[in-house]
Amino acid sequence: MAEITPQPPTINGSCLCGTIKYHITGSPALKILCYCQNCRKSTGSLGMANSIYHRSNLTISQGHDTLRTYKDSATDSGSPVDRSFCGNCGSNLFCENKEKGPGLVIVTSGTMDLEDGQSWQPVMEFYCKDKKTWLETNLETKKFETVPAALENL
Ligand SMILES: [Zn+2]
Ligand SMILES: [Zn+2]
Repeated sequence: MAEITPQPPTINGSCLCGTIKYHITGSPALKILCYCQNCRKSTGSLGMANSIYHRSNLTISQGHDTLRTYKDSATDSGSPVDRSFCGNCGSNLFCENKEKGPGLVIVTSGTMDLEDGQSWQPVMEFYCKDKKTWLETNLETKKFETVPAALENL
């Protein structure tokens, strides 16, 4: 009889229009909220709610040709961020900061199609100095005024 090994939970996701589809396997290295100005501008909202994964855990299964990348070099920390989004509907999907997190990819939690038993909850908050005073997360998170020097090994 074949041994049944538990499958790592796969999270599926897509952009708003559904052109770009992806899946991620394994556990994220980190789940973060970031309130920096660039995350606010980029989303047009309060900030970003992201999971950080090792690049090898992410598979873009559909819509590569529609994925556009904006090279955001005007970041507060000085290290450029590649922000990838759907060229059709504009959903923010992935970010990469090759200086702070080489080999890592940042996946937006809002594009994840979480199934029963899957949840998303942050463990850290970046750029709390820019967080709206009325925004209370009511969670035990590790809070940073800005951003830690490196994303790995936090
Ligand atoms: Zn789209
Ligand atoms: Zn940010």
